[in-house]
Amino acid sequence: GMPVIVDGTLGDLIIEPSAAVAEALGGRANRPQAPAASISPRGPAVTRDGTRIRLDANIDRVEDIAVARREHADGIGLFRSELLLNGDGLPGLTGPESERAQAEIYRRAILAMAPRPVTIRTFDLDEAQATSGRAPVDAWPELDRHRVLGLRGVRLGISQPLLLDTQLRAILRAATDGGAVRILVPFVTAPFEMEYVAARLELARRALATEGLQPPRVALGAMLEVPAAALAADHLAEVSDFLAVGTNDLVQYLLAADRTDQRLASLVSGVHPALLRLLRLVPRLAARHAVPVSVCGELASQPTMLALLMGLGVREFSMTPTALGMARRVVESSDLAVLRRVARRAARTGLLADIEHHVEHALAQPATPSAPVAKP
Ligand code: PEP
Ligand code: MG
Repeated sequence: GMPVIVDGTLGDLIIEPSAAVAEALGGRANRPQAPAASISPRGPAVTRDGTRIRLDANIDRVEDIAVARREHADGIGLFRSELLLNGDGLPGLTGPESERAQAEIYRRAILAMAPRPVTIRTFDLDEAQATSGRAPVDAWPELDRHRVLGLRGVRLGISQPLLLDTQLRAILRAATDGGAVRILVPFVTAPFEMEYVAARLELARRALATEGLQPPRVALGAMLEVPAAALAADHLAEVSDFLAVGTNDLVQYLLAADRTDQRLASLVSGVHPALLRLLRLVPRLAARHAVPVSVCGELASQPTMLALLMGLGVREFSMTPTALGMARRVVESSDLAVLRRVARRAARTGLLADIEHHVEHALAQPATPSAPVAKP
C-alpha cells in the first residue's frame, strides 16, 4: 500500500516520495526529453585492431530515442512498432487514418535519430492481439504472451495484407521526408515470406507514386528468431538486404522453453551448446551472400556473449540503450584475432570459461583512446 515512484530514466525506486519529489518527478515525466541534438556524438566503437563494430539501440517507444542518443547509439536497430498499440492512441491498425497516424509517429522517430538510421520492425502481433488492438507487454497475461506459434508476425501480415500494406505505406510516407529508415520483418520462417513483403513494399511505393510522392528505396531485413530460419540463413540472405538475429525468441524456440516463465529462467538465460553452434553458423551462412547480419536480442548485452559473437564474425549489434556503454567498453578492449580463437573454441566445446576469462582480462586493461568523431 505504499506509494512508490519508478524513475526508469535513472533506474531509481523512490519509496514514499514527498509531495515535492512526486511533483518534480511527475513534471519531468510529462516534459519532453532534452533535445537529443544537444548531445555530443562519439566516434564509432572500434576494436584494438581497428575493426569498426556497429552498436545500435533497441527501442519500444519514440521517446526512447533520447536515451539511445545519450548513449551514443549508431542507430536504432530495432523499433518494436507493435508497442505503439499500448498508448499512442492509434486509430486502429488498418485504413487511411491509421496510415496517417503511423506515418506521423515514424516521421518523429526518423527525425529524432537523423542522420542515423531507424530500423522499424513491422508489427509482431498474433491474431488475438491484432483483433483486440492490444500489444503483448503489460496488457497480456504472462502465459499467453509467448504461446504464439500460429499466425504471428509476418505470417499475420501475409494473412491480413491490409495490416501489412497500411504499415508499409506509413513507413514509406515517413521516409519520403528524409532521414534513414530500414524495415525489419519479424518471425520469418521461409524465403517466400520475404518475397511477399518485398512485393507488397513495391506496391506501396507505386501507390504513393500516384500521389506524386517519391519514397526512397528502403532496405528490407529478415529477423532470425525461428530456429529453421537461422539454420537456413543463406536462403533468407538471398531475398533480404540484411538479417537480424533475435536471440530472445531464438533461444526460447530452440530450447522449447517459454522466455517469460520465471521457473525456466536458468535454462533460458544459460548458454546451451546448441545455441552456440547455431550462432557460429549464422554469420557464415549470411556471408555466402555478403549480407550483413546483426544480433538484436538481448544476449548481446552480456559482455561475454558480445565478445563471443564478435569472435564468431558478428560486426553489428542492437541492444537496450542502457547497455551500450558496457558494449563500447568490451569492443574497445577487444582484439579480434584473439577473440576469434577463443570464440571458435567456445562454440566447439560449449564451454565459456575461456572467453569469460578473456573478457575479464581485456576489460581490466586501460581502454584504447577514443576513435575520432565520425562524420555523419
Ligand atoms: C528477439 O526475439 O530477440 C527480439 C529482439 O524481439 P522481441 O524481444 O521483441 O521478441
Ligand atoms: Mg522476437
